[in-house]
Amino acid sequence: MTLLQSWVASANRADTQFPLNNLPYGVFSTAHSDPRCGVAIGDMILDVQAAEEQGLIAIAEGPVFDVPFWNEIMELGPDTWADLRAQLTALLASGSADQDAASALLVPQSDATMHMPFLVSEYTDFYAGRHHATNVGTMFRGAENALPPNWLHIPIGYNGRASSVVVSGTDVRRPWGQLKSPDHDMPAFLPCRRFDFELEMGAIVGSSSDGPVSVDEADDMIFGYVLLNDWSARDIQAWEYQPLGPFQAKATATTISPWIVTKAALDPFRVDTPAREFELLPHLRDTGPMLYDIELAVDLAPAGKTATTIARTNYREMYYSAAQQLAHHTTSGCPMNSGDLLGSGTISGAEKHQRGSLLELSWGGKEPLTLNTGETRSFIEDGDTVTMTGAAKGNGYQIGFGLCSGTVQPALPNPYER
Ligand code: CA
Repeated sequence: MTLLQSWVASANRADTQFPLNNLPYGVFSTAHSDPRCGVAIGDMILDVQAAEEQGLIAIAEGPVFDVPFWNEIMELGPDTWADLRAQLTALLASGSADQDAASALLVPQSDATMHMPFLVSEYTDFYAGRHHATNVGTMFRGAENALPPNWLHIPIGYNGRASSVVVSGTDVRRPWGQLKSPDHDMPAFLPCRRFDFELEMGAIVGSSSDGPVSVDEADDMIFGYVLLNDWSARDIQAWEYQPLGPFQAKATATTISPWIVTKAALDPFRVDTPAREFELLPHLRDTGPMLYDIELAVDLAPAGKTATTIARTNYREMYYSAAQQLAHHTTSGCPMNSGDLLGSGTISGAEKHQRGSLLELSWGGKEPLTLNTGETRSFIEDGDTVTMTGAAKGNGYQIGFGLCSGTVQPALPNPYER
């Protein structure tokens, strides 16, 4: 696959995240417009609500862009997804007959505020990166018991909180919680002292299901992917439940990037899952390449200072694909809804600089990182901004996701002493 040419000049640059090959879906507003659906193209956004109103694109079941979220398209299924993508590609391609009309509907991204691109039905987070699970397990349970006995047979997960999912750019407040340090007999209610990020990909379910689905069917149900930061309070987590801490440690916020990158845009970058020690049971077996080669990076910037890239890894490091996770999720008969969000689990590689959380990068705080500014970090300090980026690299083009960024604000005064 090579770069597709668009009449939007900035979409043809090799360094753009949003060439015609990408066409990710978001929701934006400007000083002159309420939130509405848009498609990123180069450094612009095409207003698809206006494009539908003017007849430049048409969906048979439409109008579908009279609401500021993408759920209505997601619910219509893969044939509609392909039809819309074909229409948008033709509209924005070099030589389009509707170039003049469409060019009047472009908004500079620099003038836009991004919003949640879809209504999150429910949020599930997995624990499916082998290097991450081994690192965390070694710290919490010792090297001999690092991986739980089920880990190589099922993608472990927990049901999270859809209400906590926010779009990139939203501030995150340091939480309070119940902590117990090893040198105290009793727990105390305090602001989190070990606030962390987790570098993940989020898979968005488009088609719903009611009953068990196969891995192939699950792959067909996925609408697209976002970058995801599963903010984690490590000291709350260590006390409430090990190793996942799947309750208050994870309930403060989960940040996603603002653009849904479709499965179609990522299709040239499919890769196989890593080699397996044990063959999976038949209903979870790989039936084709369902992971993606997406280079990922995490930057940390103290307040008012330059950022340091503190981790670089790749989505292909995961042990389970989102399709396998989704298939496993349905085995009990659990219905899945359009708008369900599945976090991949923290994506770490084998090398130290490839670790996708500060817990692993600083090895539980024992090996603080030194930033470009000369400061050190074991965990996130107030005012720090954590920014994740990702790109699939093609022949002369890349498929980007925008930023997945959040700044950590100081804890409020004790909420129970008012
Ligand atoms: Ca997680």
